[in-house]
Amino acid sequence: MDSEEFRRAALSSIDEIVKYYDHISERRVVSTVEPGYLREILPNEAPDKGERWEDIQKDIEAKIMPGITHWQHPSFHAFFPCASSYPSMLGELYSAALSGACFNWICSPAVTELETIVLDWLAKLLGLPATFLSTGPTNGGGVIQGSASEAVLTAMVAAREKYLHEKLPPRPQGQNDDDDVDQEREDALAHLRARMVALGSSMAHSSTRKAAKVLGLRFETIAVTDGHVSSSPPGTSDARGADMTTGKGGYALTGPALLAKLRDCRARGLEPFFLTATLGTTDTCAVDDFSGIAEALAQFRAECREGPGGDGAGEVWVHVDAAYAGTALVCPEVQDAIGVRGTARDTSAQIENETGTPKAANVTARSGVFDTFHSFDTNMHKWLLTHFDASCLYVRDRSWFVRALGVGQAVYHNAASSGGLVTDYREWQIPLGRRFRALKIWFVLRSFGAEGLRAHIRRTARLGALFAELLLSEEAQGMFELLAGPRFALTVFRMAGRGPSRAMAGKGKVEGEETEKNTLTRKLYEKINHSGKVWVTSTVLEGRFAIRFMTGVWKTEEEHVRMAHSLFVDLAREVLAEQPT
Ligand code: PLP
Repeated sequence: MDSEEFRRAALSSIDEIVKYYDHISERRVVSTVEPGYLREILPNEAPDKGERWEDIQKDIEAKIMPGITHWQHPSFHAFFPCASSYPSMLGELYSAALSGACFNWICSPAVTELETIVLDWLAKLLGLPATFLSTGPTNGGGVIQGSASEAVLTAMVAAREKYLHEKLPPRPQGQNDDDDVDQEREDALAHLRARMVALGSSMAHSSTRKAAKVLGLRFETIAVTDGHVSSSPPGTSDARGADMTTGKGGYALTGPALLAKLRDCRARGLEPFFLTATLGTTDTCAVDDFSGIAEALAQFRAECREGPGGDGAGEVWVHVDAAYAGTALVCPEVQDAIGVRGTARDTSAQIENETGTPKAANVTARSGVFDTFHSFDTNMHKWLLTHFDASCLYVRDRSWFVRALGVGQAVYHNAASSGGLVTDYREWQIPLGRRFRALKIWFVLRSFGAEGLRAHIRRTARLGALFAELLLSEEAQGMFELLAGPRFALTVFRMAGRGPSRAMAGKGKVEGEETEKNTLTRKLYEKINHSGKVWVTSTVLEGRFAIRFMTGVWKTEEEHVRMAHSLFVDLAREVLAEQPT
């Protein structure tokens, strides 16, 4: 393909992509092909002679599209969204054009510098503490990772490095990794490593467990608190979507539960060194109690210092997994609801009123909930109009990344890196090579602006609230029950059952009702997905089978939510009609 052929091929591809997006709602959301379908229709070998683009392009519709599940479809309500937008697509195009493995600054200074700048821009938009800025007071900064799973693994590697460094006395001066092995220290390290444990709530994403598994470390969960069932309409119709953080069904990690776990670990001789706290859990979009977590950690450290032997505990690295819901922090009302921004409150007026005596200004500053935490990660590629992959990981002190992951090799040496004036992102990640992912973020931030991004989050969160309202409306005739949400455009619900008098016989009343609700909800779930009109996913909350309905896709409009709701009502009636009397 020469330049002219490329120009023609690219123009016709763009035309086809635009057509795909304009008519996406006419397609079935989920692919129906059988496993192995593609092998049957593709040749067994790559062609000997190059083919014409026209022939290749035809196979997109003929052979690939049947095996595509359309994540940008307006009736895609499954999992969390995987974002797309035209500006982001252009970023991917330019990134492909400027292809390179830009692991060191000198490999393309613009690639590194743009990444640092746009991640600072994003941190400010999200209201994150200055500790996460590249220009902040604690040597922090941001780096783009491929996924939230990669981010938590990277953070855990750094956390392990920090913990080991802080717990074991430094090596004698002049000794470094290339010197002879210090056997005594190696033994002590091995002994300590074997007792280190990473923690997360029972609702934390499995990526934390996986990271611990990869690193050969222990992982334990902490029980969450909640979730109560509501049958009254949620108050979620604020014009700006201000209360997208509230909703039913907490299922969150609390300070007391964490403290109990930390004490338990210590009593068993374990060393808790890492905690994943979640902003927007996968199952219900719950938000862990960040200030309670900070208090529990402070209390634990104090107890360890004062306890028998006073040997202290290393600091627990707190990683905030905000993979999906974190991008909603672009909305200031969400920042306030979560408590991200510290507040400075002048309490003098109150004092004056109480005592009748004027007092000097009495300003109390409350710090933001993330101020003492060590890392934070959010995927722009989930809800913020940016293509996969754009997982934005922030760290309070980047030197722990570099210490843990900065392995030297002669071939990568260069004057800029040796001068210490530049960032080499290869030292902040597990792979070596990296592509130009900052471009699409730059294009998205500039094209939409903060206002456009906020509008997208608020609009799609409002659709979630609308869905929950419809679910509990008269039209639904009491057939549904909210288990969690609406929160961050996610609602988790189930069928309400037929009431105690008609619950399955032969079991305890409550157990019988629960079993029936699970059976009905499973049947409804299967019918919904079998229809092919929408796609939803399910979860199980404390033994209760539930359907998750997410409205974060950029193509989803009110009409699609209303259509889905009507479909659910019809199918739920069918399910009830099919029940034996
Ligand atoms: N954390 C949370 C809260 C998630 O919901 C998910 C996936 O949905 C992940 C982590 C993993 O995301 P990734 O696919 O980017 O690894």
